[in-house]
Amino acid sequence: MSRYIITPGQRYDTESISSTLPVLRISELFSDAFQGEGVYTGHPAIFLRLAGCHLNCKWCDTKEIWQSSTAFSIDSLISLFIRESLVEKLISGFHLVITGGSPLLQQDSLTKFIVGLRKCAGNIFIEMENDASLTIAPQNEALLTLVDCWNNSPKLASSGIPLERRYNPKAILQLGRAGTEHWFKFVISKEEEWNEIEELFLRPALIKREEIILMPQGQTIRELTPEVKRKIAELAVGKGVRFSTRLHIDLYDDLKGV
Ligand code: SF4
Repeated sequence: MSRYIITPGQRYDTESISSTLPVLRISELFSDAFQGEGVYTGHPAIFLRLAGCHLNCKWCDTKEIWQSSTAFSIDSLISLFIRESLVEKLISGFHLVITGGSPLLQQDSLTKFIVGLRKCAGNIFIEMENDASLTIAPQNEALLTLVDCWNNSPKLASSGIPLERRYNPKAILQLGRAGTEHWFKFVISKEEEWNEIEELFLRPALIKREEIILMPQGQTIRELTPEVKRKIAELAVGKGVRFSTRLHIDLYDDLKGV
């Protein structure tokens, strides 16, 4: 079972933070978990969830978590990683999965944190769960290469977010050359949604077919039935793209922090 280090809503005893220091607003941090989605499904992982999101998808299953936040200076967060033996775990092969919310809302501080963490932990593997609707500012081009694997998840109409707030071709093109690997994971429930992927992403050549992962929509075992998963898996095979289940839901239902 995973080990919580920062719990959502917890009053954490942070050092006094000067208003001039860069801070990261954190919603939760837990270790001894596994990646539940995408190409690294099942890989041991530490999850760092950053607070805040600029979208409000109607099926979001983490809203209550990313709305809570504790501010950490970069140094105090790195000290926490050392003190809680997270650096050791990362060196031993655990992935650091940075998620949200929308982590890129804090990209300047995040860049500084990753640079600092890599200084003391060396060649670790970092995954970024990214909603893919924000443009990465040019001054943070560094972030594109500091993260090894970009798990981008562009939102479709089913998210309930208007097109102009969720579709950013410039950002998608940037993310298509990010890290040593990058994926575009689409959460879908109906075959017809493939047409949207074709029209908005494949036809304008923003992404490549081999970078696509289809994942079924659902937040509980009750919703993610074998039939629902089979339908999306068969669609993925038919279109020649990858399929991902949601392993954490298969194993723990809607339990958070796993
Ligand atoms: S982008 Fe992600 S975190 Fe933000 S509301 Fe949508 S599903 Fe939730």
